[in-house]
Amino acid sequence: MEETPLALYMSIGFDIITIFPGMVSAYIGESILKRAVQKGLLDVKVYNLRDHATDKHRTVDDYPYGGGSGMVMKIEPLYTAVQAIKADGLERLTVMLSPQGRRYDQAAAESLSQEKRRILFICGRYEGIDERVKESLVDDEVSIGDYVLTGGELGALVIIDSVARLIPGVLGDEESAKEESFTWGILDYPHYTRPPEFMGMRVPEVLLSGNHKDIADYRRKEALRRTLQKRPDLLGKAALSKRDYDILNELCSSKTGINDAEEEG
Ligand code: SAM
Repeated sequence: MEETPLALYMSIGFDIITIFPGMVSAYIGESILKRAVQKGLLDVKVYNLRDHATDKHRTVDDYPYGGGSGMVMKIEPLYTAVQAIKADGLERLTVMLSPQGRRYDQAAAESLSQEKRRILFICGRYEGIDERVKESLVDDEVSIGDYVLTGGELGALVIIDSVARLIPGVLGDEESAKEESFTWGILDYPHYTRPPEFMGMRVPEVLLSGNHKDIADYRRKEALRRTLQKRPDLLGKAALSKRDYDILNELCSSKTGINDAEEEG
């Protein structure tokens, strides 16, 4: 029987409007995302906003009404760019990158990875984008964190990268996304590879034992320990079993509880 191509199972498409198409294409053209595109699991189209400017200088920004520093991205080129992209009739979710948007996280990545529509990103620059763009063209305003970047391109790439790796077939077995930080609402367990000892630092014996049950128990406990240590805020929302609560109680009640992994390992 002929094998069904992965692309028929699930794939995801993105459109990006930017004044720096080269920045975006450079990242998409390397490594895992490049392979995902080649396999037909990921489709990314990058549009230069200046192609939709109407004057000979290809202007996309102007002075702010009311005065103040910096320039503002004009609505007309963005409007015509979005209309031109949507002329293919495909369904799209239009997302504007903005530090004022809904904060992006792993749950948002998982939700976007199920999106059937193409996702169209509008990348801002300068002081930001004319407010009427949000009112007339945008479905969702997303921030990748509480800091201000010079443009939305990195935000779009962060989202594409984190969503693409959730699409089945994008990561090989060796790069599985199933057991990573945030996947189960807690942080990932510690990783080791050869050599078993380096400058007196030994890999925990249990990982060399070949006992799969002991290894799984060790990893779960270490994942819980480091979540308790580094991001206790996550535990309130995580999907935890009765056994997880027992482990957490044990870690909390032991005097060195959250710091004694080495002695136990
Ligand atoms: N004046 C704007 C404000 O304070 O809200 C910031 C404009 S910023 C210098 C220029 C562009 O970078 C924004 O329009 C947005 O597209 C992008 N950007 C900056 N920080 C971002 C963040 N944390 N998340 C997503 N996009 C961001």
